[in-house]
Amino acid sequence: MDKAKVLITKCPVCEGDIEIPSDAIHGEIVSCPDCGTMFEVGTINEEGVVLKQVEVQGEDWGE
Ligand SMILES: [Zn+2]
Repeated sequence: MDKAKVLITKCPVCEGDIEIPSDAIHGEIVSCPDCGTMFEVGTINEEGVVLKQVEVQGEDWGE
């Protein structure tokens, strides 16, 4: 069995390491294990992964 490849990218918030599975797809949500910030996976290429921070809504659901 091949060992799953994991890409390591740096969290732009806390500079911790975030592991991205190599089979992650565009739009997949990953979260930083250190600070818990959630990111959407953008472009994945040989140079790394582009992450887009996900804006988490508060508890105000517009009622
Ligand atoms: Zn972080």
